[in-house]
Amino acid sequence: MTHNLLSRSVVRRPDRVVFAGRVLFLTEDPDLLSRQLDGEDLDWSPAMKLRDNISTDEITPAYICYYFDETLGEFPYLGLKAGDRFPIERGTVKRGGFVASVAGKRRGKGSSREQSPYAEMCAGIRLVVGESIERIYRENCQNLGVLTTTDFSILERLKTGEPIPLSVFTDGEGQITRDIIEFGGLFTYNVARLQGKVTVPALATRARPMTIAEKIFARHWVVDAGSGRVGVPAVQPGDEGFVTTDIRFSHEYVTPMSAIFHEQLVGQDEPLNDPDSIFFFRDHLTFLDQVMRPEHVAMGLLDVAMQLERKQREFARAKGVRLYGQDEKRTNLQDAVAAGSEAICHSKILEAHALPGQIIIGSDSHTPHAGAVGCVAFGVGTTAIFNSWITRDVRLQVPKSFRVVVRGRKPENVTAKDFMLQILRQPYVKDGHAIGQVVEYCGEAVEALSVDERATMTNMAAEVGAFTGIIAPDARTVEYLVVQRGMSRVEAERLCEGLQSDPGAEFVHVIEIDASTLRPMVALPGDPGNGLFIDELGREVRVDIAYAGSCTAGKKEDMDMYARVFREGLARGARVPEGVRCYIQCGSQEVFRYCEARGYHEVFRSVGAILIEPSCGACINAGPGVSRGKDDVTISAINRNFPGRSGPGQLYLASPYTVAASALAGRIAPWEGGAGPSTIS
Ligand code: SF4
Repeated sequence: MTHNLLSRSVVRRPDRVVFAGRVLFLTEDPDLLSRQLDGEDLDWSPAMKLRDNISTDEITPAYICYYFDETLGEFPYLGLKAGDRFPIERGTVKRGGFVASVAGKRRGKGSSREQSPYAEMCAGIRLVVGESIERIYRENCQNLGVLTTTDFSILERLKTGEPIPLSVFTDGEGQITRDIIEFGGLFTYNVARLQGKVTVPALATRARPMTIAEKIFARHWVVDAGSGRVGVPAVQPGDEGFVTTDIRFSHEYVTPMSAIFHEQLVGQDEPLNDPDSIFFFRDHLTFLDQVMRPEHVAMGLLDVAMQLERKQREFARAKGVRLYGQDEKRTNLQDAVAAGSEAICHSKILEAHALPGQIIIGSDSHTPHAGAVGCVAFGVGTTAIFNSWITRDVRLQVPKSFRVVVRGRKPENVTAKDFMLQILRQPYVKDGHAIGQVVEYCGEAVEALSVDERATMTNMAAEVGAFTGIIAPDARTVEYLVVQRGMSRVEAERLCEGLQSDPGAEFVHVIEIDASTLRPMVALPGDPGNGLFIDELGREVRVDIAYAGSCTAGKKEDMDMYARVFREGLARGARVPEGVRCYIQCGSQEVFRYCEARGYHEVFRSVGAILIEPSCGACINAGPGVSRGKDDVTISAINRNFPGRSGPGQLYLASPYTVAASALAGRIAPWEGGAGPSTIS
């Protein structure tokens, strides 16, 4: 622990807050907005039409998130649309002297990016008002120390300048949230916790049948942060507290901002808590230079984005953290382009680090990927990552769990991706009931999957909207740890022991799927929940791009699938037809070398596919394989196909088999070579 924090003075805010500054109303009317920016103060009236559904993309568009320090204060609301205009320009909010900003319903929806409330805070906003405020955005505000309310009566009091009781912002909150607000944010709260100035309510949950995830939470439950005492007999959904983590990781979109927080709030030269269990990754923007729009390059955004890489690299070196970086040398391999990342974060965490029974946090929604080996892995925000560098723990409210049972024996041309597209179209998931819950996958069709394929399912717990996804470790997990990690069988078996859900454990819902009835699927553009069996498409869909890669679909077994289909194609004289661009992108250099050793590079080259070195690339609209026009059609094995995710075109999701078969056919087509029951038992 950082000792200077133990002697640092931390106090609760005064029980009354004074807001000295102006109020900005985010109105539908662009002229009203402009008049406020020019100095006019408006009086609140319910007749005023406020903007609803302001997303974090509007508060800080993705390219603004290349900034990671107070410069963000120049940019809040740059993407905010009012009428048919974008009236807010760089620096205008900050110059306006605003202390509060007011919007309509569902303020802060969309991406969980913490850059949005941080940009508002750096522009001077101390109070966020909305008719309703989205949960993650609200938590991010609280973690940063920005106050939030849905009570519009506060506006009259702001006008008179009267002090507002802090209880206006804490009433109805749980003990931990109340304390975080009173201490002005998660960091100060944590310092107070480490100093023993606040106590986390003790758990009184009695022994009960538990799910795997609950068992892991109980083992990691922080009883006393000061002494480091960890572990309780049992937890139940709703229990609030902190859990200690085994691994913490972040990528270049998040590490730099967390690093700035650490340098400013903890100290430039202060160490991180147990740096050996922290990992950084250069994966999201490795190939950005190849696809950034010229107008953004002209704005200097490429240089700004490159600073993310530099800041992460320098911080890693200063703090002794292992950075999975970018390959310095250009590859000479024919058809391979540029120099890639060592690995995508999720790929490497599973390949090299995650163990059954661990708790892993990462700065990315697909962190559940590692749940394939029976650990609890979940995504957190910038402030939570930064705080975990100090405390090694993370705040948690135990989620409810639900189960997905996949029975029977799948046809051979059906994969874990098809399971997921089928799960994502279940009403329980589509209607949002699974949001924030733990999804436990089980059943003989799941047990028959390799760990790589299981990771496709746990990875896409993010698309389910779940807190995380997990699969009970078993003999296949043991085999994976022995072969992939070189672990002794005895040790691997010991790690897996007891990691099954108890009979009688509480699942709030069960989805049952018969694998033998499944056929290859696609998700129509717009949402991963738009799944259909390919034979239900009812029309031919030509493809311009076939993209085979990402954390979800750049594993060794995914490469086996692409190569299998392409080899069969080559044997009958087929190649990727002219007019179709096919890209293969591995999730890590380890997978890249695996392909090389098996002769896949030659197969991919011969069939006409372009092999790209590892990176998130086109999956995050930042590398070769992105679409260029709205009529471009892509078939892709990535995990999400929200509008604009990989360019402006039409993005269909499918399994690795289907992506490869479609690349050869020039239209969406299932792989028929493996029709019939699986040969894998
Ligand atoms: S490959 Fe795509 S889904 Fe995976 S971490 Fe990168 S951007 Fe996220």
